[in-house]
Amino acid sequence: MKLLLALFAVGLGSMYAEAQSPVSAVTPAMTATANQLLASARQDNQGYELVRSLTTEVGPRLAGTEAEARARQWAVEKLQVLGLQNVRVEPFQVPVWLRGVELGEIVSPFPQSLTITALGGSSSTGKQGAEAEVVVFDSLSALQHASRIQVEGKIVFIDEVMVRSRDGAGYGLAVQKRLATAYVSEQLGAVAALIRSVGTSSHRFAHTGQMRQAGADAEVGVPMAALAAPDADQLKRALGYGKPVTVKLVITPQRLPPASSGNVIGEIVGREAPQEIVLVGAHLDSWDLGTGAVDDGAGIGIVLGAAKLIMQQLPQGPRRTIRVVLFGAEEVGTVGAKAYAREHAAELPDHIVATESDFGSGDIWRFDSRVEEEKLLQMAAIAKVLEPLGIARGNNTARGGPDLKYLREMGVPIVSLLQDGQDYFDFHHTADDTFDKIAPRALDQNVAAYAAFMYLVAETTAEFR
Ligand SMILES: [Zn+2]
Repeated sequence: MKLLLALFAVGLGSMYAEAQSPVSAVTPAMTATANQLLASARQDNQGYELVRSLTTEVGPRLAGTEAEARARQWAVEKLQVLGLQNVRVEPFQVPVWLRGVELGEIVSPFPQSLTITALGGSSSTGKQGAEAEVVVFDSLSALQHASRIQVEGKIVFIDEVMVRSRDGAGYGLAVQKRLATAYVSEQLGAVAALIRSVGTSSHRFAHTGQMRQAGADAEVGVPMAALAAPDADQLKRALGYGKPVTVKLVITPQRLPPASSGNVIGEIVGREAPQEIVLVGAHLDSWDLGTGAVDDGAGIGIVLGAAKLIMQQLPQGPRRTIRVVLFGAEEVGTVGAKAYAREHAAELPDHIVATESDFGSGDIWRFDSRVEEEKLLQMAAIAKVLEPLGIARGNNTARGGPDLKYLREMGVPIVSLLQDGQDYFDFHHTADDTFDKIAPRALDQNVAAYAAFMYLVAETTAEFR
């Protein structure tokens, strides 16, 4: 009887514990293993080495080009050497855009050259270029409210400044002008368009980036380029004299038929629930001007460095499958992300959580999630293990990286390990995005956080939706 009572009490106790504190997401043994991963990451510079290797041996890797194909080859070899399983390329087609000549100058009243770069997807001015008077607007919205008579036959200049912030919050607004200006300008009869670079640097590097994909053939868009910030300042000063300012622009990019791209995938297959997937992403392609070190060589180094630690430090793999997805063709419109969501639609209900590293190599400072309300305690237990790295628990409205857009929309739980992006948009999409910008210590902190996070969500029995 005493025994029965005791058993009953134990039963009640554990039921109570389950109802009150579903924080069994992380056991003490799991915490100990995660701490071991955190410690190992401090003595391992594999993430940094991988960024060096990619940016040196492949360099720039524009979507759909031979260079991006070499990046896929590089990734397949690295995943195999690290010992991941099911290493494969999932191919898809992507439209190709190649940069040509790019020259800008003020013709009058103060003749001098301007530092510009064509925006991805832009049409060409032809070799003869486009020369016209400049009409300036302080925002895309101001251009959208302009009349045809103000704009027709002119070169539009949108002079809107992007705000610097730790979490890159200014980018969402700033990028709108890059996406739409060529098309709005075309509708109003402009001959070309210039924007102040979407970026925060005051150095003389122009920031490229994709325009909105033109839908109909009728909507080709005028040729469009970005001015380096000091050149936007200079043009604005010239306009400040109140006299007509004429600019000449020669950009000769080519739009080519679709070519091959692909996502490179490798897995640490789960020992108990292999069908349950923890997706960890980064993107393999980059813009053509720099060597894609902060965008997104860093992310590639971080997720592969973390996968390597898990493979080498744990006596056995985690319960669930960790799937590393190195997306192709992110920069030109998240084409790889779309292909992944389409190819793996049937599997998405088994995607336990997804995360992506695509914000440079700054320290991670916040842990945001997007999970069911009643699963918040479980996620908090996981976030807690990362606290010693200086990572605070954030909100539950994580958006994840750009390649997670479709998964998020299809209900896959998301985690964002937010990095300090104070200087990210100084280098982003410029010729100055090179390996020397990677901070090795901060990269190690990222690898540590990703390794512990990947292990914990793959080991726990907790679900997040
Ligand atoms: Zn990126």
